This record gives sequence, structure tokens and C-alpha cells, in this order.
Amino acid sequence: MAAQDAGAGRAQSGRCVNFGVEDFGLDSTQPTRSPPPVPVNPVTIARCHCGNLRAYETCCGRFHRGEAAENAQQLMRARYSAFVLMLEDYLLETWHPSTRPPEFCLADSIRTRWLGLDLKSHHQAGEWAQVEFIARFRIGSGPAQQQTEISRFVREAGCWYYLDGEFPQARTSHARQRRG
Ligand SMILES: [Zn+2]
Repeated sequence: MAAQDAGAGRAQSGRCVNFGVEDFGLDSTQPTRSPPPVPVNPVTIARCHCGNLRAYETCCGRFHRGEAAENAQQLMRARYSAFVLMLEDYLLETWHPSTRPPEFCLADSIRTRWLGLDLKSHHQAGEWAQVEFIARFRIGSGPAQQQTEISRFVREAGCWYYLDGEFPQARTSHARQRRG
């Protein structure tokens, strides 16, 4: 009786609901019970913000947590995801100091909804790389737009940095800030 009350109390309080090892070790006089079944969402399909069919945590998330991108394409994807998540610090940190703005604020982009990313090409020559991509977005309730950019990247001390970008479709270049 006492054990059931204690168990119910833990569950209701929201603590120890996973019944970790330490939970069973608190009072050895209480009988152990099987943990409750963990609910599973059968329709969850992992997809990163950058479009990869992988969970964010194992795709761009690991770069946002400090892991260095192995190539410019990975950095480009991580920077796109950073725009989606409005990670201004990450965008500045991965922007080469020679072209990086003194400050970078995405407050003006609050109404921008990113719709997807298509990578067109990735070329690397030594410590330089170029990535062409199309980013699709919508501003407020406006029509869907797309922006083609050819971004240049440089690697220094083992870390890739966004350098600058060209916008072949200048007609829509006003719709967003420079990005990589
Ligand atoms: Zn990603």
C-alpha cells in the first residue's frame, strides 16, 4: 500500500516517470515494478530544417552545438537551419571575419518563413569551396519566393567559414539578407 502510494505520487508529480536506476535504489524495501510503456508516436519522420531526412540533432544540430562542419556543404546547410531557428550567434561565428558584419540581427526577418532548401552544386578546391543553392521562403502571407545564391566558403585552421555570395537572380535579392 505504501509502495503504491509512493509510486503514484512520483508519477503524478512528473518526476522519475522514466523509472531510472536511481529510482529503484531509493528504498530497497519497496517492491520493484515494471516501468509503464513509453508512448510512441508512429507518424514521426525525422527531417532536419535543411531538408535532410535526418533528425535535426544528428544533422545541423550537432554543428549548432559546436561541432565543426567537415565541408562547406554541411556548413551551408547548418547556416540555413540557423536562419530558420534565428541563431544569430552561429551565423556570425561561421562568417569569415573579413566579410562578417559587426553585428547581425534577424529581427527584421521575423515574418520570413523558410520553406525549403535545394542544393544545386558543391565544388571544393583545397581550402576554398563554392555551394550553389536555392532557398525557398515566404514573407508574411505573401507568395512563395525563391532565391538562388552561389556562396563562397574558405577553410582556416580546419574550420569552414562563409565568405560571401552572389545572387544570379537579382530580381528577388531584396527579399532577404545575405546568407550562406
Ligand atoms: Zn540539417
